[in-house]
Amino acid sequence: MGSVFCPCYEPPGAAEKVPLTLHDPSLRHPIEELYFCHTCRSIKCYRCVDLEHGPKFCPSCWRSFDHEARYCQRHCFRCPSCRSRLRVKADSNDEDTKISKSFRFNCANCKWTYTTGKLTKPQPLYEIIRESSKTVLERRFSELKTYYENLYETLHISEARHRKRLVGRFSSLELAHVVEHRKLPEIGVIREQTVDQPELPLFQELCCKSSVRCKSCRNVLVQPSSEPSSSSFETLSMAISRLPVLECIGSTLVVTNPSKESMEVQLHLMDSEVLTLYETRLYLSARPECKTPEEYAKCIPTPKLTNSRAEALSRTEEGSNWKIVKAEILKAQEIPILLTAKTDTASFSWWQFLRIS
Ligand SMILES: [Zn+2]
Ligand SMILES: [Zn+2]
Ligand SMILES: [Zn+2]
Ligand SMILES: [Zn+2]
Repeated sequence: MGSVFCPCYEPPGAAEKVPLTLHDPSLRHPIEELYFCHTCRSIKCYRCVDLEHGPKFCPSCWRSFDHEARYCQRHCFRCPSCRSRLRVKADSNDEDTKISKSFRFNCANCKWTYTTGKLTKPQPLYEIIRESSKTVLERRFSELKTYYENLYETLHISEARHRKRLVGRFSSLELAHVVEHRKLPEIGVIREQTVDQPELPLFQELCCKSSVRCKSCRNVLVQPSSEPSSSSFETLSMAISRLPVLECIGSTLVVTNPSKESMEVQLHLMDSEVLTLYETRLYLSARPECKTPEEYAKCIPTPKLTNSRAEALSRTEEGSNWKIVKAEILKAQEIPILLTAKTDTASFSWWQFLRIS
């Protein structure tokens, strides 16, 4: 599908018919990524909207957490090798009259396992793993810190000492030769140690749902359902379900209306060397409610369904919400086209970049 130009970087007061920033590639967006504001009657890119983050929740147990939390603090952990959810089981140990517990983590997907040490005090699982991961990380950090500190010192001290000694003894050409073949002092870090350390279960990162607001009129464009486990939206105003899209399928131009309103679409070409349009005004019915696969198939333009020449001869020129645009392609190129849609309630325009093949 084509990309759509967002005029949000157009200098204030620019009254040209063709936007001054039209050919700036950073202002072109895939139509799937754009919002549509019904109040402003225009498309909105990510720069034209504000995000508002809702409460944090765990995508595994759906429990809500406050804003400071980053990880689920219940029993949700991920496998460090395949990121699947881990199963946790507690084992009781009875040794030397001391009762202790240990926890076994199990990945059902890749069979990765991890068992905690024996614990005598009751402690939340999240804290147990946090303590273990802290020691592993801290050890690694201090190891690296010492290594780089040593390396820095050795390089600088030896360089200063050598510089004094060498300058008097060698010619500059000989010095250059020495520098070229100089070997940096080697400082060993015992890397095998870190390999042996067991990988720990990963904490489950929290998620949050975000609503999207138009920067100019403050209208809500996207409002997800407040229920963490629900994937539905209370408001969802995306350009892809509002703007008719012009597509070049093979050598056929097709325009499709994805919205629930019938509309008149006008096409304005800037450059007639690439394409000749024999019709620039098209009437498209609303997209019908599709309940069965057959109904859904009828909403897809036939050039999209087949490439065979025999079928192309017998295929229809229009469906309920799409039409083949009578046009002649002169050159394969990407061109901007100004589209204007008029419905019973609104009229809006936008620039779409169409790749002519
Ligand atoms: Zn924008
Ligand atoms: Zn959780
Ligand atoms: Zn796994
Ligand atoms: Zn708006």
